Amino acid sequence: MYANVYDSLHAYDIISTAPSNRRQRRRKGIYELLLCSDCEAEISRYEDYATKVFNGGTELHISHGPDCKL
Ligand SMILES: [Zn+2]
Repeated sequence: MYANVYDSLHAYDIISTAPSNRRQRRRKGIYELLLCSDCEAEISRYEDYATKVFNGGTELHISHGPDCKL
């Protein structure tokens, strides 16, 4: 998700519109703890798949459930 914002040192700048906030450098994406480790692991599978679909690495696979009307 952040691949295009990293520089050659694998860091990026956080710039605020508030003059009192100084510029910061980060090496990891912005995140907060919302899920337990089990739920994070489950969602991570889909995040990894979506990243590969968007950035290359796999094709988009669409399947329909047994009750789908399409
Ligand atoms: Zn959970």
